[in-house]
Amino acid sequence: MYDVIIIGAGPAGLSTAFWCDELGLDTLVLEQADEIGGQLPRVYNPIGNYLGLKTRNGKELLDLFASEVDDAEFDLWTQTSITSVDLKAKRVSLASGEVLQSIAIVIATGVRPRELGVPGEKEFAGKGMIESAARDRQLFAGKDVCVVGGGDAAVENALLLAEVCPTVTLVHRGKKLRARHEFKEKLQAVHCITVFTESVLTRIIGEGDVVAVEIQRKQGLKPFQMAVRGVLIRIGVEPFTELFRDQLETDEKGFLVVNGRQETNVPMVFGAGDVSSPVAATISGATGAGATAAKVIASRLNERG
Ligand SMILES: Cc1cc2nc3c(=O)[nH]c(=O)nc-3n(C[C@H](O)[C@H](O)[C@H](O)COP(=O)(O)OP(=O)(O)OC[C@H]3O[C@@H](n4cnc5c(N)ncnc54)[C@H](O)[C@@H]3O)c2cc1C
Repeated sequence: MYDVIIIGAGPAGLSTAFWCDELGLDTLVLEQADEIGGQLPRVYNPIGNYLGLKTRNGKELLDLFASEVDDAEFDLWTQTSITSVDLKAKRVSLASGEVLQSIAIVIATGVRPRELGVPGEKEFAGKGMIESAARDRQLFAGKDVCVVGGGDAAVENALLLAEVCPTVTLVHRGKKLRARHEFKEKLQAVHCITVFTESVLTRIIGEGDVVAVEIQRKQGLKPFQMAVRGVLIRIGVEPFTELFRDQLETDEKGFLVVNGRQETNVPMVFGAGDVSSPVAATISGATGAGATAAKVIASRLNERG
């Protein structure tokens, strides 16, 4: 029996655990991955927007977070697969057969990149599919590449690839790019980037590695093939909420709906971090939400006496 079970060991889950520990709550963190940190190990760009700390990448920030995990007293189980959660009863069932009980549950399960769902996307993972321009661009130097998406992440990655690739084709479904003004201005000044709006990538073609993509420009027009050696997809994220969706309120995209105290509509069930932040997903937002959830839980338990 724990006071608090936290699901997910990214910045939000870890921050919640630190605060719960500090407030004297018996706390368990359950993480499905081998390692803690959530998205942080996949952040290859420098992090300069977490107040008071500047790191070369997410891994460096994670190392700073992790150095504190050893000193803390909460329990942390990685490689833990949850089969079901009864949010009302605060019961968590694991694939191992164990059933855990707590007074409060914090859902800090974050998000994963959305997939395009086209043929070739999975098949060519690691064979021309680019995970991150910040990490991989030298591998694609001198090669033509294609980027799918129209938001900040897609345009930022296209700009990075354009530093080393002869051509970058940016394929975006909408009429206008959604990226911030600063990125769009930079885009206009880079002549090797071609933007196809109102267009969709329909297939990734390869012979061992990626050799081409099939693109459909405007509805009704015939798709055409274009030779590229790399494809990077950045079409947003989706929350990890499948386990809970039928038990609490979510928005139309599956993000948890929480109030200013990080409470969901189920008593003593909280959401923290990206899983409940459809608008602004940030490390500082995630750690702040974790702190709020922990403090609210502590005060609720205090009231109960
Ligand atoms: C390329 C990139 C660059 C970024 N750059 C910045 C930046 O410069 N500044 C910034 O502030 N933010 C940045 N971010 C965003 C930032 O990383 C996220 O906002 C932050 O990681 C959110 O933390 P979180 O704990 O809410 O979720 P996550 O980091 O997604 O962690 C959630 C954790 O929950 C686990 N989990 C999910 N489902 C289950 C389950 N059923 N059982 C157990 N565990 C589960 C996941 O495995 C994961 O470890 C960037 C993100 C990316 C991908």
